[in-house]
Amino acid sequence: MLCVKCNRNPAEVSVSGKLLCKQCARNEIIKRIRRELSETRFLNREDKVILIYPDFYENVANLIKNIILKICKDCKLDFEETKVEFKSMEINYDLWRFFTNIMKLDANKIILPFTADFFLSYMIYSISTSNYGFLSYYGLTSIFNQKIFFIPLYNTPLKELKGFNEITGELNTNDPLLNEILKWSSMEFSDNEIFHTFENSLIVFKNNRCKICGAYIKSAEYCEYCLRSFSH
Ligand SMILES: [Zn+2]
Ligand SMILES: [Zn+2]
Repeated sequence: MLCVKCNRNPAEVSVSGKLLCKQCARNEIIKRIRRELSETRFLNREDKVILIYPDFYENVANLIKNIILKICKDCKLDFEETKVEFKSMEINYDLWRFFTNIMKLDANKIILPFTADFFLSYMIYSISTSNYGFLSYYGLTSIFNQKIFFIPLYNTPLKELKGFNEITGELNTNDPLLNEILKWSSMEFSDNEIFHTFENSLIVFKNNRCKICGAYIKSAEYCEYCLRSFSH
């Protein structure tokens, strides 16, 4: 089968329901990020931005960096990046450390590498653990504690990035249950459609946010992790 776009090369990657060749798939993703940058006006010339990412997202983070620096090659960005190790076996604990560290940064424009399959799997995971705190960051942009978050791939699953050679394999976190769900959802939802549409189901999780880390909380002002850290 040939790519539905160029009709020349073999179709290998499904992007937004279209079977494309690797090159057209890459172009589609770059176009998507270019559109997101222009619609949100996230970046200005000479901005200080930081791309901060969990270790298991290193190749995606590199890809995001390359694409953004290419799109904004004349913006003279002060572009920093930081890798954070996710080494506990509980994703919520590592996400909590991750976001509390972000709150301490000087930069107020933050780029995160999370992809749609991560958010969807985390949502399923959190139904069973009943801690869905960090769904609060789902979305293309959000603002918390004067920090502006930009998540260019929030509705793009890893599989749609297969046109880029640097993206190899699957997401592999340190949380065994989350990994199982990631694997299962990547098999179950192979047409990628759900990754573009599950946003609406997230409304039921919407809640107040912890004043420190921004996680959704059920009551009071702080999440359990922040409360626990006060007592140390
Ligand atoms: Zn093509
Ligand atoms: Zn908190």
